[in-house]
Amino acid sequence: MATEYTCITRKIEVHLHKHGDTEEAAQRLKDEYHIWDNINDNLYKAANRIVSHCFFNDAYEYRLKIHSPEFRQIEKSLQHAKKNKLSEDDIKKLKAERKSLCADFREQRLAFLRGGATEGANPEQNSTYQVVSHEFLDVIPSDILTCLNQNIASVYKQYALEVEMGKRTIPNFKKGIPVPFAIKQNKQLRLRKRNDGSVYVLLPRELEWDLSFGRDRSNNREIVERVLSGQYDVGNSSIQETRSGKRFLLLVVKIPKASRTLDTKKVVGVDLGIATPLYAALNDNEYGGLSIGSQEQFLKIRMRMTAQKRELQRNLRYTTNGGHGRTQKLQALERLEGKERNWVHLQNHIFSKSIIEYALKNNAGVIQMERLTGFGHDKNDEVGTEYKFILRYWSFFELQSMIEYKAKAAGIEVRYINPYHTSQTCSFCGKYEKGQRINQATFVCKNPDCVKGKGRQKSDGTYEGINADWNAARNIALSEEFVDKKKK
Ligand SMILES: [Zn+2]
Repeated sequence: MATEYTCITRKIEVHLHKHGDTEEAAQRLKDEYHIWDNINDNLYKAANRIVSHCFFNDAYEYRLKIHSPEFRQIEKSLQHAKKNKLSEDDIKKLKAERKSLCADFREQRLAFLRGGATEGANPEQNSTYQVVSHEFLDVIPSDILTCLNQNIASVYKQYALEVEMGKRTIPNFKKGIPVPFAIKQNKQLRLRKRNDGSVYVLLPRELEWDLSFGRDRSNNREIVERVLSGQYDVGNSSIQETRSGKRFLLLVVKIPKASRTLDTKKVVGVDLGIATPLYAALNDNEYGGLSIGSQEQFLKIRMRMTAQKRELQRNLRYTTNGGHGRTQKLQALERLEGKERNWVHLQNHIFSKSIIEYALKNNAGVIQMERLTGFGHDKNDEVGTEYKFILRYWSFFELQSMIEYKAKAAGIEVRYINPYHTSQTCSFCGKYEKGQRINQATFVCKNPDCVKGKGRQKSDGTYEGINADWNAARNIALSEEFVDKKKK
């Protein structure tokens, strides 16, 4: 069975390797940059040459047809079949003749593409390769040229129909197109590691491109390590020179979809928070967690939208007689409500994506959320106005379903738990008592023997407490009070 995988492209800056500090090494580096510049200066010309000949190959057959008086005569007769009072049999005969002529032209074309040779697979690509290798093989290594030839042929195919219909002309390539190569050449990976741990790509003509990861915000080193260890497969990649003269490896990595083995004992609990819209915590971690979104930002945007809406609604009240003005204002109100929905929708997308990323990053195989029945009553005995605000505007059902389908796609199981007391129970010792959540943001455990549920002790003997949303998220992650399904 073929494994399904997702292709991702990683952009990593590269430099040609310095082979020491000697004069010889300096000269070698100079020579190598010269080789590279030559490739870069000629590659786009080769690309244009290939695409021109792709078109020429297609056009050749067309020209054979229209230059054949026989073929044109048949076409004409068939076009005016009614006027010429052709019988069914006549038409059949003409069509058969046309078919055999077309087969002839196709044969002629293939013979032409093969350049006299009788056999050979893929004569189209071979013919364009012959054209460019004749002209460019001195400056562009054959491996790169082969790759380019394949890439350009597939680009041309995308446009071929529109070109034929006269809707557009053939694509045009400019200097700076990526220099493509098979990263696995004869089963050997071009990506290699030196004894000192540095990683490079070995291109033809002994060009060693050192990878420099910089601050590596996108975790490229780890991905490269996985490629080197064989965990990830790679696809044909390229090196591109930008206008500013920087060079980047565009590494195509195939990440298997199914092979991810997540830990099903690792659970992420997701809490709809008060101080923060969303909080995630792990069942097996006593620190950290993930807070997503800020309430301030959320409230600010919502308030602005609500204010606009009120203004419109107030205006509507004064124009109750109907007529032009009212319709316009109603439309404005609808538009605003649409905008609001889109905004919430987008936020939910961002939030659900973050939750999935957090789970994957921690190798967690399960996400637990509260079932929404009774939500807002069991959960919190002192429902504040802010909380109502969030409940009213936060489309939590939508968020849950987004988390659910995204989790599914990533191979994570989603479970719903009973929300009872999740915010009033200490996630460390399990003590439940009202008033432990001393305010929206802070939880202090009242169990005298519990240390971790109290936070640091202040100079006056009281405790700093722990983040109340995080505590609730931990409870959700730890809970085994599963409920079947979410109910409205
Ligand atoms: Zn406790």
